[in-house]
Amino acid sequence: MGKKTVLVTGGAGYIGSHVTVELINAGYDVVVADNMSNCDLTCFEGVKEVTGRTDIPFYRIDCCNQESVETIFNAHAIDALIHFAAYKAVGESVEQPLKYFRNNLDSFITVLSVAAGHGGCNVLFSSSATVYGETDRLPVTEESPRQPAMSPYGATKQMCEDILESSVKAAGTGIKGMALRYFNPVGAHPSALLGELPRGVPNNLIPYVTQTAIGKRECLTIFGDDYPTPDGTCLRDYIDVVDLAKAHVAAVGRMVDGKMKKDYEIFNVGTGRPVSVLEIVRAFEKANGVKLNYRFGPRRAGDITAIWADPSLANRELGWTAQRTLEDTMKSAWEWELHLAALNKK
Ligand code: UDP
Repeated sequence: MGKKTVLVTGGAGYIGSHVTVELINAGYDVVVADNMSNCDLTCFEGVKEVTGRTDIPFYRIDCCNQESVETIFNAHAIDALIHFAAYKAVGESVEQPLKYFRNNLDSFITVLSVAAGHGGCNVLFSSSATVYGETDRLPVTEESPRQPAMSPYGATKQMCEDILESSVKAAGTGIKGMALRYFNPVGAHPSALLGELPRGVPNNLIPYVTQTAIGKRECLTIFGDDYPTPDGTCLRDYIDVVDLAKAHVAAVGRMVDGKMKKDYEIFNVGTGRPVSVLEIVRAFEKANGVKLNYRFGPRRAGDITAIWADPSLANRELGWTAQRTLEDTMKSAWEWELHLAALNKK
């Protein structure tokens, strides 16, 4: 059988670029689509360098534009599609909800319509643990009920899951679907050639940590020290981005090999290990021999105390388990920050 082709929308972004690398390493042909609204070519150039492939088809298109998406489906026989193309800043989504609903829903509806028009496709949606909201029963399994979304961003993740599920159920679309619910994706590629490129002041913990360590930020504020957790700081499930990318390869393999047990499946992608903010700080310092300037501040509005995955379904069904240690991850995050600093000096 010939090589299978995977379309990765948002493939020049943080997670999309890592997934593109792992798909190519696993022997897939990859077509990348990205409108570059939240990234530059750094990561895509990194993908080419890491894989040694300079011929990856790249479409600078907006997935909300049906004609543009048609162009890709007309030019390539797409066996599977992974949809990352979406806005992702939680805070911004609260301030500009319509921007988020319009873009994140429209781009997904558009690619699904085009895929259905071309006889269907295996569609993997990039979802998030945010769909679970605040939950008492930990770790969360895929059966844990979704809670009302805490932000428009979270609402778009829930809605896109529903849109995919309905499209799968509808007769004649030929669409099979999978949603991967990521916990906290962190770290960078071990080559230090691709990683997260936050715009402006980072909201997420790890970029804030690395930018503080390199001196771009003065001090990390740990949001809250009085949570009911062992050290008083919040607990999360930090999943290394390379491990996360490998989960996508396993998921795509399951879809294209016809191994799905249902036409719509959901998997948690996490380590199953809760880690506190203070543990992150200590792990970063230890892994890199760097001292981090931090202080405790008030809780951040909207933060939940603790959430971590039960990843056993993905472990069992996808044959995938997170491999990288927190130390590996913290090293990769720091090396990426150093790489960015070196680029800026040029
Ligand atoms: N956090 C922090 N300081 C920061 C950024 C984040 O203490 O500058 C904490 C935040 O309160 C949460 C954890 O780090 O407990 C992870 O936050 P992040 O924004 O990375 O992801 P979230 O879990 O909120 O999606």
